[in-house]
Amino acid sequence: MQTISLLQIAPTLAAYFVVALHASARPVRQILDMMTVHKPQVVVLAVIDSLDLKIYTDFAPELIELHRLVEQGGLIFACPPVSTHTTPAIAAILTGLSPESHGIVVSEDVATSEIKSILEILHEHNIPTAAVLDTNGAQPLEGRMSYVIGIENREDIVAYDAEITAHTISILANQHEVQLTLTHLRSIDRFAHRGWDLRAAAGVVNERMREIIRTVAERNGMLFICGDHEAHLPERKAASGQQPIPLIVAAPV
Ligand SMILES: [Zn+2]
Repeated sequence: MQTISLLQIAPTLAAYFVVALHASARPVRQILDMMTVHKPQVVVLAVIDSLDLKIYTDFAPELIELHRLVEQGGLIFACPPVSTHTTPAIAAILTGLSPESHGIVVSEDVATSEIKSILEILHEHNIPTAAVLDTNGAQPLEGRMSYVIGIENREDIVAYDAEITAHTISILANQHEVQLTLTHLRSIDRFAHRGWDLRAAAGVVNERMREIIRTVAERNGMLFICGDHEAHLPERKAASGQQPIPLIVAAPV
């Protein structure tokens, strides 16, 4: 499996959409080539919270939809983690900058940051974008892209992910002008923090991704699916080394 950086996702999208991004990370040629061949009608960037390579492989039967994308010609890369926390990691994915460079630690920092995400930059170039994420993350993005859907955080994270998915699918099905949509599924992360059965969480995320993948296929779109950081598991604390974060890029059929 080829190693790239999570910081290359935003530059790759910027290169595909031909907009300038102030990041030094280089676009990934293989992904650009795939996009050029497929000419996606829409791109969905799905961040699966706490999806690391060990979760991806340990729960391969549960995450069958992700593995199927790779088996059917999707690309998979291993990316070293850039942060142990969600907000700085997703900001790195969206800006192409390391957490040290973008300085975004909590959601509130997004409102005051001078640094723009690929979603905002595309919007400024009249390329419509959308984001479906929790209300804390959504609020600072209001008015900075075409559609910002905030979903209220709650204890029932399975219901939360179902709502995230429903809104993501609604945008894909109804807002055909949107070129890039961010979505963020959190069941695996929550189950890991609670010490619950990760197999069940992986199954939940698989079902949600099945729905998103089907809709992206219907729209002749492409998917970028990645984690944000390593899963926070008690038994990992003792282990040395870092788990890479997978990135899957696919044009589902
Ligand atoms: Zn996270």
